[in-house]
Amino acid sequence: MVWTPQRLIDERMTVRVYCHNAKCHHHAAIDLTLLRDKLGPDAPAMKDDLLRRLKCGRCGSKDVGLIYSPATLREGWPENPNGNAYGKAKGR
Ligand SMILES: [Zn+2]
Repeated sequence: MVWTPQRLIDERMTVRVYCHNAKCHHHAAIDLTLLRDKLGPDAPAMKDDLLRRLKCGRCGSKDVGLIYSPATLREGWPENPNGNAYGKAKGR
């Protein structure tokens, strides 16, 4: 599967950029709507495609990494109120 900006949005993915500079460690989620506007909805948006366009917004380092997370790992997802479901098998 090849990610494109539109597909990332449709699948409700979150793409976060992590700075590898030990003095910085800045991280931020990419604005996928902005990405789509910049690259076009069908442009390739795999790690290698994005990494060479990215640099850290804080220190300017190009030594950054990307993490693609599915919707269930999004920030703001409600925490399990009981905390006892941890480790249970996830349905597919
Ligand atoms: Zn940085």
